[in-house]
Amino acid sequence: MRVVVIGGGAAGVFAAITCASTASNTEVIILEAGRKPLSKVAISGGGRCNVTHHCFDPAQLVQAYPRGGKALRGAFTRFQPQDTIEWFEKRGVSLKTETDGRIFPVTDNSQTVIDCLLQEVTAHDIILKTGAKVQWVNYQNQQFMVDLKTGEALTADQVLLATGSQRPPYQWVEQFGHHVVPLVPSLFTFKLQDSRLQGLAGISLDTVKLQLQTKGKPKYQQTGELLITHWGLSGPAVLKLSAYAARVLHDAGYQMGLTINWLPSENQETIKEQLFAQKAETPRRQVTSFSPVALPRRLWQQLAMAVGIAAEQKWAEISKKQINAVAKELIQGEFWIEGKGVFKEEFVTCGGVDLKEINFHTMESKLRPGLYFAGEILDIDGITGGFNFQNAWTTGWLAGQAMGE
Ligand SMILES: Cc1cc2nc3c(=O)[nH]c(=O)nc-3n(C[C@H](O)[C@H](O)[C@H](O)COP(=O)(O)OP(=O)(O)OC[C@H]3O[C@@H](n4cnc5c(N)ncnc54)[C@H](O)[C@@H]3O)c2cc1C
Repeated sequence: MRVVVIGGGAAGVFAAITCASTASNTEVIILEAGRKPLSKVAISGGGRCNVTHHCFDPAQLVQAYPRGGKALRGAFTRFQPQDTIEWFEKRGVSLKTETDGRIFPVTDNSQTVIDCLLQEVTAHDIILKTGAKVQWVNYQNQQFMVDLKTGEALTADQVLLATGSQRPPYQWVEQFGHHVVPLVPSLFTFKLQDSRLQGLAGISLDTVKLQLQTKGKPKYQQTGELLITHWGLSGPAVLKLSAYAARVLHDAGYQMGLTINWLPSENQETIKEQLFAQKAETPRRQVTSFSPVALPRRLWQQLAMAVGIAAEQKWAEISKKQINAVAKELIQGEFWIEGKGVFKEEFVTCGGVDLKEINFHTMESKLRPGLYFAGEILDIDGITGGFNFQNAWTTGWLAGQAMGE
């Protein structure tokens, strides 16, 4: 019995180890195109590898997947973050949880994760071939034929496709009758050029509400931490919004209106009351000399000036109309996204093999028995925080178990 795993990333390596430890009489071969396996693990989480997330309730966990959550619901009852933690800790990798729930090796070094996985590969006599780019896979005479770029061809009883989001393998997938949901980027920052944000790079706000100005439903909105950058906006709220709205933003050419509520715990009326009270209290002080609301002074200053308040204007000179305008600006500021930035810490692709065609108990194709899928090749992607690797571990584990059995 021979199992060929194509792709030596997190999903492929984890599946191969699971398969080899489930079935002792099976030859397991990993074919990796690159010079080294697990190259994304190496660079992940800024070199620290955010292995998984501190969320152990499958119902809650699936909320972190803009695509694929529903399909993963059952899968997480069989292998979830708690299992990932146990798996690594049992093999000597101590993990720690940060305050935001992200889980890293205590060494803060992704190499620890790689070393652990590669030790398991060796311990289970898995054949790992690097520089082994697969060019085509098909099924003939009751077995799979795997053609390598080197000219070599391998036969296999079972094949796992774990090639991540690289484009060429989707051609083999389609040849087996599978559908591929179009691929578009997820987890990115927003490019904005706006005088209101100029010179504010580095300012970070704990709770801001962002809403994309899409027509109709669903509403794409996120409340959370926002970071103003040299090129626009970043931070958890932006990244989450980019993930949930990955497809609509792509279809709009990354040009879209964005409403920012800088003070989501307030509303326009409570803000107005605060501003009128401020006017009464400090009539002789300049409006832009301090922030009367819970925002950094420079941001307040630029938002106030954007509605026509002059830098030297005093509170006594502020009109009712100006107070209304600035209250609206604070709660419902209208901005324009001009493009997509990059997020170097983590980046994933939305889209991939259509989940309807996969048996999520085994990760086997419903169209071609013996063909399995795991990881990012599938139409699954998570928000930032360790959820993408968890998808790789879970689907890799399920596929490995099923192939081994
Ligand atoms: C910079 C960066 C940082 C990230 N950080 C995190 C993080 O901290 N936490 C998190 O959860 N997620 C993170 N992610 C996302 C995570 O890395 C991916 O979701 C995960 O690696 C997907 O695993 P995979 O095995 O499905 O695919 P991949 O890791 O992409 O592995 C696929 C492998 O298949 C190989 N391959 C492709 N085509 C062929 C072929 N024809 N023949 C042979 N081999 C082939 C590739 O060379 C590659 O090694 C990060 C992503 C990036 C880009």
